Amino acid sequence: MLSVEEAQERVLELVTPLGVEHIALHNALHRVLAADAVAAFDVPEGDNSAMDGYALIADDTPGTLRVIEDIPAGTVPQQRVERGTASRIMTGALVPEGADAIAQVEITDGGSETVRVDRKVAPGTHVRRRGEDMRSGDTVIARGTRIGPAEIGVLASVQQSRVTVARKPALAILATGNEILDVGAPRRAGSIVNSNSYALAALAREAGAEPQLRGIVSDTREATVAGLSNALDCDFIVTSGGVSAGAYDFVKDAVAELGADTRVWRVAMKPGKPVVVSRLPGGQVAFGLPGNPVSCMVAFILFVAPAIRKAMGEAPLFPPAVSVRLDAPLRSPGDRRTYLRVRVIARDGDLVAVPMKAQGSHVSTSMLGANGLAILESGITRVEAGEQAPVLLIGNPFNGMSHAK
Ligand code: AMP
Ligand code: MG
Repeated sequence: MLSVEEAQERVLELVTPLGVEHIALHNALHRVLAADAVAAFDVPEGDNSAMDGYALIADDTPGTLRVIEDIPAGTVPQQRVERGTASRIMTGALVPEGADAIAQVEITDGGSETVRVDRKVAPGTHVRRRGEDMRSGDTVIARGTRIGPAEIGVLASVQQSRVTVARKPALAILATGNEILDVGAPRRAGSIVNSNSYALAALAREAGAEPQLRGIVSDTREATVAGLSNALDCDFIVTSGGVSAGAYDFVKDAVAELGADTRVWRVAMKPGKPVVVSRLPGGQVAFGLPGNPVSCMVAFILFVAPAIRKAMGEAPLFPPAVSVRLDAPLRSPGDRRTYLRVRVIARDGDLVAVPMKAQGSHVSTSMLGANGLAILESGITRVEAGEQAPVLLIGNPFNGMSHAK
């Protein structure tokens, strides 16, 4: 069986970068920048004042100076500050020629004809230097960066009202199983509601893809082939269920029938062992994920999300793993690497990982509030409370916050 890392490598080999598009800055949140953002001018464009006060020559302080000009923000100073003079200046206004420091208004008498400066002011005090934030020609944000609020602000500062971002991959989602019925359908004996497609769509959206629900197919080879064929307009196809060794598991055969080049089949992990990843003749990458809701989500996080990021040229591709102290013991059969759901919380100023009560791969509620996957490597059957374990940080830390204990 492939290790998780080998499988991830093989998945990424199948993924080629998508094209780019130009969008308005205000729509760019969470998109991936596809071209370096370069400053076309210095920010700030000139030395400016960090305080309301007086622009002056530091050597003149303390002392009483003649006020020669008023410089509100947004105006251009007209007068040169000479020895014995000062200009009244507001925060953000350009520092006039000749001045080498700002005395904040609080250490003066606030005068408008003359001003008394009570304390010594060192050269450079409260002067924001030209280009201190960004210099013309600097790459201020590298391509491949996921755009967050700070990136939006910096892009606005350098006047990128439109930005070049990676196209969002289209991701088709297909549920399989005779027992699976959709959220709105009346339940019947033996039925299981399709939760996977909705959870997968949410995961896809968080990773940056555009999910498209493409229904539920029954457990026949023909229906599975038809369902997959109907999804070939997308960049990625993700199915859930039908990849185990059961007599009704047709996903692997169906992708083969479509001419797939299958690179991953079964991965040494729990949950999520039955995973099939293939490249279809049209270049689409098809992921057959397991049916159990937890296995399905974990497999998406480990294999599909990094593929989405690579398609968008994003770096890094994988969430960080950190060492966290366990709040309760964790167990694993030890035959392969096990991922266990935990919630990493702050307690007494330290991070601790609180394992979810149930760890069965069919217990969808065990994912509620989980923001980490603790990793127990093959051969490890137990980690005790108080010991450290590597934890893969997943998702938005605020998701399901009220589940925190
Ligand atoms: P399978 O691999 O098809 O045998 O599915 C394994 C388990 O996952 C079965 O209990 C299925 O009922 C369940 N399952 C499969 N697909 C879904 C789905 N879309 N939503 C919720 N549970 C599912
Ligand atoms: Mg099934």
